Amino acid sequence: MNQEYRVLLYYKYVTIENPEEVTQEHLNACNEMGLKGRIIIASEGINGTVSGTIEQTDAYMKYMDEHPLFAGTIFKIDEATEHAFKKMRVRCRPELVTLRLEDDVDPNVQTGKHLKPKDFFAEMKKEDTVVIDARNDYEYDLGHFRGAVRPDILNFRDLPQWIRENKQEFEGKKILTYCTGGIRCEKFSGWLLKEGFEDVSQLEGGIVTYGKDPEVQGDLWDGQLYVFDERISVPVNQKEHIIVGKDYFTGEPCERYVNCANPECNKKILCSEENEHKHLRSCSHECRVHPRNRYIAQHGLSEEEVQERLAVIEKELTR
Ligand SMILES: [Zn+2]
Repeated sequence: MNQEYRVLLYYKYVTIENPEEVTQEHLNACNEMGLKGRIIIASEGINGTVSGTIEQTDAYMKYMDEHPLFAGTIFKIDEATEHAFKKMRVRCRPELVTLRLEDDVDPNVQTGKHLKPKDFFAEMKKEDTVVIDARNDYEYDLGHFRGAVRPDILNFRDLPQWIRENKQEFEGKKILTYCTGGIRCEKFSGWLLKEGFEDVSQLEGGIVTYGKDPEVQGDLWDGQLYVFDERISVPVNQKEHIIVGKDYFTGEPCERYVNCANPECNKKILCSEENEHKHLRSCSHECRVHPRNRYIAQHGLSEEEVQERLAVIEKELTR
């Protein structure tokens, strides 16, 4: 495989006095270097994922290392064969990850204990430990640590409320949290401490780092890792591959995500190619018959053809 590109994933919590100015300056610098990706800058720091050639990503890491605010940022590096993004976007936002806490957490002041992959692995296997996935449900459904708790949430900002509602499950236990690259856990584990949980640790560097660690090699991870770029999923466990994803329509093992063709729904559904076509890439009857259904438009299906497919689904449902 020709690996001349890289995907970088990184964040740094650092106080930025003039985030708007820094955003503009950063966008110019990235464009000059020819990078593509998505970066968020807020008064609390920077969170980004970018792709580029080896020279471009080297230039960026050097730029960051010499930057008065961003020096010391840790980069997770994936090799790739092409760009993982179509555009370069740098946006200024109120928060790096949307939690909208009434009483915000500064991870530089309060956060859970950072565990290296090897230590996280050892802690995970202890009896009085509860492992909480700090990501969204669709990320969990594609892959997660064996036995981890799956919060029933669509957005990260709903996590604190969900924890409060399920408090008795975690009280008195040793809590471990993990997320993709570590940024969500910095805040979430800090919030858990603030909430009164005493023993809280987080996976340093996130799942991405865990999968690359030469000792643990992604052990105890089942499925794939959901990523927020065009790759959609990447492997983690180098020792074994157990598929945990299930086809939305049939429940069969599946690791292929598509978005519901109803633009107003856009829900992520795991499904085989066959089922995508059969169900017009839609999660429900309402979405299949939506006037702006993207699948129908893309495939130029006539009204009759749509009716034929709906009839097949209908027939199976009533069988
Ligand atoms: Zn839908």
